[in-house]
Amino acid sequence: MSTNDFEHILTEISPFTDYVYLHIKGEPLLHPELQDILSLCSQYHLHANITTNGTMIQEKAAILSTANALRQVNISLHSFEQDVKMERSDSDLNKIKEDLYSYLKPITDYAIYMSQHTKAITALRLWNLEGEHTDTFTHEKNRFVHSFLEDAFHVSIKPEMITRGIALMERVYLNQDHRFQWPSLSVPVLSTEGFCYGLGTQAGILVDGTVVPCCLDQEGDVSLGNIFSTSFSSIINGERAQSILHGFKDHKIIEELCKRCGYRHRFI
Ligand code: SF4
Repeated sequence: MSTNDFEHILTEISPFTDYVYLHIKGEPLLHPELQDILSLCSQYHLHANITTNGTMIQEKAAILSTANALRQVNISLHSFEQDVKMERSDSDLNKIKEDLYSYLKPITDYAIYMSQHTKAITALRLWNLEGEHTDTFTHEKNRFVHSFLEDAFHVSIKPEMITRGIALMERVYLNQDHRFQWPSLSVPVLSTEGFCYGLGTQAGILVDGTVVPCCLDQEGDVSLGNIFSTSFSSIINGERAQSILHGFKDHKIIEELCKRCGYRHRFI
């Protein structure tokens, strides 16, 4: 997305919100004009939140640490499951631990620096728990992550802390949660009743300007309109958007995508 398009979006949404979240599944730190985008957020008095896999955190730390608008950076530590190629054997575990060390070290260095020099929050996310069904390989990798964080932040992470947010140092947290079924029209319906904060407290805008109810609709399956041709106000007050919103208020799931979304089960 160009900075001109981004600024157009800010003019549309700034009357409705104080926050922007620079992600819909893509990697925001890859954007070549990240610094200008964060400056625009500041210009429009919006607090910026970023969710990243953390692989470019060292490279972009100078931009992030000097961005007035930056409120929070979420780092998806569970993304190492995609980034690190794994074979399920003990001999490969040592190699994985080496890769994990190289992955985690710049992230914890960044978090410590930000805590000591800025007001921005860093949330380290480990959203790969499956309760008692978590496989031993994932357990083993998570144990390594815990042990790494214990050493880096001089804290003790107890097993009973597993599903709670843990303060690692000032404004640095470890958030752990269970995996959820990413919404997709190609998976079976999970339920037709329930609640979600989609459109109530958030909306998503894709790179082509399509407005969707949340940051999980990466394909634009629930297209509510296009912000480059229609005002944001008209889009969120439109028939489809209002129907979704009223449905959630009545505990009814209107959209086919939402019926297939496991994320909303977190709100039950
Ligand atoms: S139910 Fe899922 S797909 Fe639908 S708005 Fe909520 S988070 Fe988005």
